[in-house]
Amino acid sequence: MTSTAWIEKADKYIMKTYGRYPLVPVKGEGCYLWDADGKKYLDFLAGVAVNNLGHCHPKVTAALASQAAELIHCSNYYHIPQQIELAELLCGLSFADKAFFCNSGAEANEAAIKLARKYSRENYGLDRYEIITAISSFHGRTMATVSATGQEKVQKFFDPLLHGFRHVPFNDAKALREAIGPCTCAIMLEPIQGEGGVVVPDASYFQEVRQLCNEQNLILIFDEVQVGMGRTGKMFAHEHFGITPDIMTLAKALAGGAPIGTMLATDKLAEAFTPGTHGSTFGGNPLVTAAGVATIRAIMEEGILNHTEEIGEYLMGELEALKHKFPGLIKEVRGIGLMIGVELSIPGGDIVKTALSRGLLLNCAQEKVLRFVPPLIVGKKEVDEMLATFTGILQEL
Ligand SMILES: *Cc1c(COP(=O)(O)O)cnc(C)c1O
Repeated sequence: MTSTAWIEKADKYIMKTYGRYPLVPVKGEGCYLWDADGKKYLDFLAGVAVNNLGHCHPKVTAALASQAAELIHCSNYYHIPQQIELAELLCGLSFADKAFFCNSGAEANEAAIKLARKYSRENYGLDRYEIITAISSFHGRTMATVSATGQEKVQKFFDPLLHGFRHVPFNDAKALREAIGPCTCAIMLEPIQGEGGVVVPDASYFQEVRQLCNEQNLILIFDEVQVGMGRTGKMFAHEHFGITPDIMTLAKALAGGAPIGTMLATDKLAEAFTPGTHGSTFGGNPLVTAAGVATIRAIMEEGILNHTEEIGEYLMGELEALKHKFPGLIKEVRGIGLMIGVELSIPGGDIVKTALSRGLLLNCAQEKVLRFVPPLIVGKKEVDEMLATFTGILQEL
């Protein structure tokens, strides 16, 4: 079937929750996608920072295929070896002692919110329930995570929202300090805001946030759903800031494209989740956790973190050069590793559409920020190919 035929059928049967581009990808390999008509695309979106190892990485594909033939699903009533292995890897790589598995970023944040509230109520009193988050944050689309998200556009029409969230400006420790009250139990932040337009805070901000949490017995939750798993050149983005949280959530890139989420915590906090307090039917089933184990091993074995740092510096440098070439169009280039935002002086939607027609997948977060989140395996050749197309588009503006 042609792309046009698929799009006509989608119009009839699929709810219109997304402003979709007229593209029907049917095959992927490395940094490239092919559509239903056989046209090839260079993918600098990577499924929104999901396909960090590129499309159909042979180790992830093999793990999924062999696990699918062995056991796809059982139940969390039983012990699941692949889940246990993935938890051991994640705890070994981070501050965390224990993992809870679910199926998405929003669900991981739901678990974090529930754990923070239960732990705080049990240890500091029944009135401790409030969670402070940042303006322009993004934490998901469920009711609790929509309430946590600091953007009106995702909340409109869905109130009453969940009670107990307060939003403060990001990268402003003073505002945070002033917002803390007797009901506050936790602070939930993205180390780098993704949907908010690739906003990197000062290192001193997180030092202060950590100190505030220590002083006032508040739980620090990092939402690393987008920036975790090597995206910034470190396994977890908070490693750049020299502090650790008490809870961390991961999802997008954790299992090479298989749907998964996890909430990691210290033993002290994890004890609040006793049998029956939280759960998920599919959470961490054998299929997705086998993919997760293969993904983490590939990141380690293939030197992906160092590569991300190096190629990220190259791409940032080239984008900086473009900024000097087009000072009227590009206002700022920012980011770490391969989590890069280019703030424009004009809306970026048309650039994304033109790029698509020329076989390049880009993305616009917020109205004027182009977000570059290619697979971490991207090479200099693909970066140069992207830059040639992108420069051509800028020249025509
Ligand atoms: C994508 C994202 C989420 C939501 O993840 P889903 O898997 O879509 O539920 C939450 N937090 C951040 C920072 C994200 O980027």
